[in-house]
Amino acid sequence: MTARTSDIDKAAGVLRGGGLVAFPTETVYGLGANAEDPAAVARIFQAKGRPPSHPLIVHIGGAGLLGDWVQEVPATARLLAQHFWPGPLTLVLRRSHRVPLEATGGLETVAVRVPEHPVALALLAAFGGGVTAPSANRFGSVSPTTADHVRAELGDAVDFVLDGGSCEVGVESTIVDVTGEIPSLLRPGGVTREDLEAVLGRPIALDAASPVRVPGQHPSHYAPRARVVLVEPEKVAAEAERAQDAGHTVGVFLPPALAGTPVKAHAVVALPASMAAYARGLYGFLRELDQQGCDLIVASLPAEEELGLAIANRLRRAAGPRPSA
Ligand code: AMP
Ligand code: MG
Repeated sequence: MTARTSDIDKAAGVLRGGGLVAFPTETVYGLGANAEDPAAVARIFQAKGRPPSHPLIVHIGGAGLLGDWVQEVPATARLLAQHFWPGPLTLVLRRSHRVPLEATGGLETVAVRVPEHPVALALLAAFGGGVTAPSANRFGSVSPTTADHVRAELGDAVDFVLDGGSCEVGVESTIVDVTGEIPSLLRPGGVTREDLEAVLGRPIALDAASPVRVPGQHPSHYAPRARVVLVEPEKVAAEAERAQDAGHTVGVFLPPALAGTPVKAHAVVALPASMAAYARGLYGFLRELDQQGCDLIVASLPAEEELGLAIANRLRRAAGPRPSA
């Protein structure tokens, strides 16, 4: 889905004026500001309720512009950019002075990517600069994959919402740190570990630490209102029944292997067999179960290969301990 030229121009004008624009990318919707305007960047943190130490991704219009935003482009970064941009891959590099510390959470590194969505690319071309954007949701909650999700969650905190339909990939970008000798995978996402290894010609380790190199982060993220409980796939139906009998309003993510199994629950999402379809639908499924009034979601982890790695990562964080209110 493309956007009207008049809407793209309007959105670019809002960015130039220091405002916030929500825009579609192939991963999830982003909440964008002019990356070079510290006051506009500060508004992103305010709108999301996100701690200012949590760094943002700078979106640029093409791989050829990367040199403007970083001190140097190592060979590995060049190789990965060549293969995966535009696309759901974010590279962490040393920032150039063009990137204000407000956008990097005070870090000397910056995360950069070229999104693969016609509306995002049209916006970047019309604006001309870099657009710093996290996902367009309140901090810690489920990422938006439609313009309606953005409007429902952020409302007036956004100056303009560009509607580009629903997001194709559905989970966030893969983040790779290429500042060191050996590239490291900070967050699994739309580009799979297997894809990266094929291009790099070597194994790439999944950094056990959070991608956020700053203290004070809680492990809960990507979380719906309902509590998420993870069990072995074959125990999903039994756990749902137990919780429903205990008085919970239970939502279930039913694995494809159990399709057709009767489940005692308030609402059941029959998961698609294809990992691409699961990733595309994941956040919508979580929102749907919230909307149906579920207070508990019973799910299991998919095999942690290909896109299953990113899905499992998001489900673990969704099930992580919540900050005490
Ligand atoms: P979100 O904006 O919600 O998609 O999250 C952006 C992600 O990029 C977060 O997980 C950040 O921690 C990560 N990120 C952004 N900049 C950096 C950086 N300089 N170093 C490491 N991770 C980063
Ligand atoms: Mg986010």
